[in-house]
Amino acid sequence: MTSQTIETAWPAEVLFRFLTIVGATVDVIPQPSQSLPHRHAATCRGCEATNFNAIGVSNDLKKWAQAHSENCRALPRPTA
Ligand SMILES: [Zn+2]
Repeated sequence: MTSQTIETAWPAEVLFRFLTIVGATVDVIPQPSQSLPHRHAATCRGCEATNFNAIGVSNDLKKWAQAHSENCRALPRPTA
């Protein structure tokens, strides 16, 4: 496996971050809407798969993020 750099500075809204096997991240962030003020999302920065819940950061949401990070092989799009 090649060496990888784990970002030390997270975006302010990221509550939990899971590292995928290829170095992308799955980030858990608040994503409230008008009807769902406690909605949170887990979003993969590699393949952009997203899972939502409406009740805050639940164990189910973290489990999804953990499981996705263990299997996803999509690389994030280069920013430069
Ligand atoms: Zn993914």
